[in-house]
Amino acid sequence: MEYRSTRENATALFASQAIIKGISKDGGLFVPSRFPDLRDSLEKFKELDYKQLAAEVMGAYLDEFDKDTLLEYAEKAYSRYDCKEVVPVKKLSSGIHMLELWHGPTMAFKDMALQMLPLLLTGSLKIQRQDKNILILVATSGDTGKAALEGFCDVEHTGICVFYPHDGVSKAQKLQMVTQDGNNVMVSGIYGNFDDAQTGVKTLFADEEFNSKIEEVGYSLSSANSINWGRLLPQIVYYFWGYLDLVRKGSVKIGDKINVCVPTGNFGNILAAYYAKQMGLPVGTLICASNVNNVLTDFFKTGTYCANREFYKTNSPSMDILISSNLERLLYHFSGENDKEIKRLMADLKEKGEYTVSGDIKDKMDKEFFVGYCNEQATLDVINTVFDEQKYLMDTHTAVAYDVVCQYKRETGDDAPCLVASTASPYKFSASVVDALDYPVEDDVFKNAEKIEEVTGVKIPEPLLALKNKDVRFNGICSKEDMAKIVLDWIKNNG
Ligand SMILES: *Cc1c(COP(=O)(O)O)cnc(C)c1O
Repeated sequence: MEYRSTRENATALFASQAIIKGISKDGGLFVPSRFPDLRDSLEKFKELDYKQLAAEVMGAYLDEFDKDTLLEYAEKAYSRYDCKEVVPVKKLSSGIHMLELWHGPTMAFKDMALQMLPLLLTGSLKIQRQDKNILILVATSGDTGKAALEGFCDVEHTGICVFYPHDGVSKAQKLQMVTQDGNNVMVSGIYGNFDDAQTGVKTLFADEEFNSKIEEVGYSLSSANSINWGRLLPQIVYYFWGYLDLVRKGSVKIGDKINVCVPTGNFGNILAAYYAKQMGLPVGTLICASNVNNVLTDFFKTGTYCANREFYKTNSPSMDILISSNLERLLYHFSGENDKEIKRLMADLKEKGEYTVSGDIKDKMDKEFFVGYCNEQATLDVINTVFDEQKYLMDTHTAVAYDVVCQYKRETGDDAPCLVASTASPYKFSASVVDALDYPVEDDVFKNAEKIEEVTGVKIPEPLLALKNKDVRFNGICSKEDMAKIVLDWIKNNG
């Protein structure tokens, strides 16, 4: 299988090369040159456990890796999950199916990919016989940072630096990051929002002087953000899993279509669902749910992507994003793999803060996607009502998706089974959840968690309890302009 950049597709790379690089020199993202068709394997896949399924689905894209190696990776990556299914699927009395992606070590769906990425990356280095060390740079809206830190903590030949918006993440998210163990990790807040952090990291990737300084000390840069193919690929697996779970439980027969709804920020998770569909998974509509940072809702409705707008800090902070990176991959496919067109759109975005897609692309968007958003109060109301009526507790991001599914059903009357990506444990956003349940919010993360446990009976997850006795290791905050210096100083002292 070959991989090509969305902005320059004359050059073909192997998967291992695309994973090591993370992002292309021209700023483009790597995409597979075709989608393997797994339609006829669904019957066989029905019998597999999650880890075996992961080896099969990922194997379809990774011909340089043998199946046994991938199975070994999957066993390792999903060994720290708190339930044997890895991804349980729960049917609510409303008939909606919740795909619970947050049973890993950091309580958010990012673990699904970030427990796997370090294995794919070190495997890729071996394949390429590269003996350089890898420095992972991460911009996070809260969940990626911690998941990447857990994934790369003390992995040989790697170092990891994480930047988060210093007052743009939840208390639990921040505590998870600043107390991170490991000798190869660095964490810093930045003044600004997630887009500032992400732009800062992208700028470092493109900065030749910075890259050569990093190389002088024996490292090369890579990314653990969802722009890395090694991050997107493991996310495709769980859509197959969710579908097969509905088959096993008799909710659908193989071939019946289901809809999928995803609370969306950087467009990685829902893009993985689109890829699953291209691979023959019977998916009807892809439902893209946003919070009040509804740049995607407007884009799908109008064909104009406009990032020049107010940025809101919401109770679903992992979706507080105005520049949704993985959309570039979707547009590349929808443009008929027209790299020049994508390059032009992305240049418009950089220069003017907006771009407008062709009528042809817009038609494809209309055909595949339904979009909607959910405001702050409605998010809390969903958590309250669903718990009250269906005894199911969800986090704020998942609540946004739940609300948009309800909008979809109301507007279209389509009652095909729907899978909702449940992306975080409610305990990761405990202050908002306590608020939603109509109890007074405490300053202390653990007090809020105890309140939730007391009123809902849902057990506090082990990884949250473990934070209680940890010391803060990283309390620095820097400006976007200082990122290069901070990374260089750190790597000289720790590399
Ligand atoms: C990252 C994240 C999202 C958004 O996912 P994207 O792949 O960036 O669209 C949604 N919910 C939670 C809890 C997240 O951590």
